Amino acid sequence: MSAPEKTCGPCQACCVALKIDAPELRKPSGTACVHLAMQGCGIYETRPSVCRSFLCGWRLLPELDASWRPDLAGVMLLELPQSQLPKTYRNSGPGWVLVILDGEKALNLRLAKFAARLVKRNAAVFISAMTPRLPLNAQLQAPVAAGDMKAVLAVLRRAHDALLPARNARGLGRIWALYRAQVDRMRATMQQRRP
Ligand code: SF4
Ligand code: SF4
Repeated sequence: MSAPEKTCGPCQACCVALKIDAPELRKPSGTACVHLAMQGCGIYETRPSVCRSFLCGWRLLPELDASWRPDLAGVMLLELPQSQLPKTYRNSGPGWVLVILDGEKALNLRLAKFAARLVKRNAAVFISAMTPRLPLNAQLQAPVAAGDMKAVLAVLRRAHDALLPARNARGLGRIWALYRAQVDRMRATMQQRRP
């Protein structure tokens, strides 16, 4: 259940970053949904159930404050159901994908500590850059056991670097820059409307 005070606002990261493969809507990851308009979802009232039911990790996890909203944090946390996890992790709750939208913003000690908390409770952890995801648990075990958050962050950075060629090959950096520009415009408009 989402924390009641959290709303998506101008974020829309999931409308761009995620692959959607539902009968009523299909799109690849890293591509803006055809229904995404200047003011947000252009079919909000009639948006498909796959959109109505989706909440990112920031919406789901009460402990994450407002600064973790994906458009602000540069990372979207994607919950994975147990059915999609390797067997070893199925008794440890959902898995999580750290979907890195903006490496400069996202890859910091705060994210390293979050990943470390997941690894400590044997949750499956993956990283993606709007690309196929890479598993992280094996690489994170030793630095997490040592309590070395700088080393945890180094693992995240190396994994992200390994994903960048695939991200760049699809032109996702440019798509993300366009998304950022739109979100900035929406945020400015929302601020102007505030009394
Ligand atoms: S990524 Fe999360 S906060 Fe952003 S629009 Fe989607 S559900 Fe809302
Ligand atoms: S239909 Fe609307 S909510 Fe769903 S992905 Fe497209 S823009 Fe986002």
